Amino acid sequence: MKRLAAYVLLTVLVLTGCGGPVDPDTAQESIQVIAMDTAMLITTYGERSPAAAYACEDAIRDLEAKLSRTDPDSEVSRLNAAGGEAVEVGEDLGVLLDAAGYYHATTDGAFNIAIAPLASAWGFAEDRFRVPSQEEISDLLKLVNGFALQETPEGVALGPGQAIDLGAIAKGYAADKIVEIFQEYEVPRGLAQLGGNVLAYGDRPDGTPWRVGVQDPARVEEQNAFAGVLELTDSFAVTSGGYQRYFEQDGKTYHHILDPATGYPADSGLSSVTVVADCGEDAGLSGMMCDALSTALFVMGEERALDFRRNWRGLPFQLVLITEDGRVVVTQGLADRFTLEEASGYQYETVS
Ligand code: AMP
Ligand code: MG
Repeated sequence: MKRLAAYVLLTVLVLTGCGGPVDPDTAQESIQVIAMDTAMLITTYGERSPAAAYACEDAIRDLEAKLSRTDPDSEVSRLNAAGGEAVEVGEDLGVLLDAAGYYHATTDGAFNIAIAPLASAWGFAEDRFRVPSQEEISDLLKLVNGFALQETPEGVALGPGQAIDLGAIAKGYAADKIVEIFQEYEVPRGLAQLGGNVLAYGDRPDGTPWRVGVQDPARVEEQNAFAGVLELTDSFAVTSGGYQRYFEQDGKTYHHILDPATGYPADSGLSSVTVVADCGEDAGLSGMMCDALSTALFVMGEERALDFRRNWRGLPFQLVLITEDGRVVVTQGLADRFTLEEASGYQYETVS
């Protein structure tokens, strides 16, 4: 079942004892939010930690209501169903569409939100998995690669038959909103886990960095089976991997990150890409950047991804690449913040 109807709210720790003054170092709220097709965990500290955590939940639900592809009332669904007519879009969707155009252009088309009809043909959007015929894929690729958003005074319009899917970018944008809320509520430290998108805000209460595990793609059935651990403060860490969503047919595995050049699941030699960037004062929309790039660089493969990073003129980011041939490739800027899990058996390399 794709859309989880269940709504789980879990309070892990509730403030201080009765009536005493609130100690901002220990005051903590932790809530689970099922949204955007994933189980999210938001942990806030500080005197206003409960209000901050619930404000994050509200922001996530508000974004989901606007951006969901499966909710027929969302702005995205209305745009997808408009048959080429212009639809008025609000500020959030406007920002996301601009960003999607930018990442599409800068990644040579590896990032493409117009992938939606193709993702549906593979059944990833609706959990009805199937392998489409080559003919069907070729036809759909014309729609995907012919994508151009029309901006008119009445709003934005897609071409006939075209549709968008913001699954590769929306959680990163939500993480940026969470940073804004943490700042507004003067949250000194916090952690937000939105599926593969992690926000490690401030440091841990004992002054040490947050420890963020990078999943071992070869051991997805095991809990806490990491290829390595990142020690992060004030950072986003966003992972894309084929192991996060896939199905098997006739002994072959097909995953959800599609290569717009072929129409098939990206087969670039990578099993996961983690993008790490600062979330501090001048970070802009870095959560969204990490999300878009983790998907795009997964499609591009190791060599193109590393070249892309070296030539990148935007806000700086670092990478952890896990390759199908058993290597963990970490860019220099993360070398002192990444510890390989020796038992995982990966070979460790650092690169510029
Ligand atoms: P992520 O987990 O951020 O890597 O996003 C993967 C999701 O983005 C998929 O489940 C699809 O909904 C969508 N997607 C798949 N391939 C692409 C692509 N090449 N560009 C943009 N979005 C994609
Ligand atoms: Mg992404």
